[in-house]
Amino acid sequence: MSDPLVVEVHAGNEVVVDFDPALTFECVEDCTWCCHHGVLLYEPDLLALADCANLGEVTTQFQGRDFVRQESKDRDDHVDEDGEACYFLRDDGLCSLHADHDWKPARCSVFPLEVTVDEPGTLTSRRGGDIRVSVRESAHDHCDGLHVSERRVVDNLGAFLPAVLWELDDPTTLAVL
Ligand code: SF4
Ligand code: SF4
Repeated sequence: MSDPLVVEVHAGNEVVVDFDPALTFECVEDCTWCCHHGVLLYEPDLLALADCANLGEVTTQFQGRDFVRQESKDRDDHVDEDGEACYFLRDDGLCSLHADHDWKPARCSVFPLEVTVDEPGTLTSRRGGDIRVSVRESAHDHCDGLHVSERRVVDNLGAFLPAVLWELDDPTTLAVL
């Protein structure tokens, strides 16, 4: 078995790569599938979001974690089966946070990838355990951006994994609303 691939994403911040390094990705206009759900918010996200919106209106808690809340939308093409989508998803399929504030929560950058954490002290120097990055299971079925371009994910991990992830006690992205 070959050694795991370890990539330095930001200075001193490494991840273990758990997907095929040949994987390519480019977000597809009008897809919006990953915006049909509530979005997990880490504490730094909450602070940044407070500068953009009223947290009481736009967030909710579930199992002790904070999320951007979902709401019903009138359009069929930018909603989940229950007719809901992320509060910030506009009718034209754009993210109002990104459009108006040039910012989005860390979890939104990570998709279609997924972050998990290993027990401390094996492949990288992160004290809380190695950060591993893989492709989210549901993305294989729903994300239209996989395998559609020449842009290798492994060469652009900084765009998917904000440096704040290495500052968190729990940077895992599995929690869903
Ligand atoms: S915050 Fe923006 S990018 Fe993130 S899920 Fe909502 S609409 Fe999509
Ligand atoms: S599911 Fe994939 S292609 Fe669709 S909007 Fe999200 S990241 Fe882009």
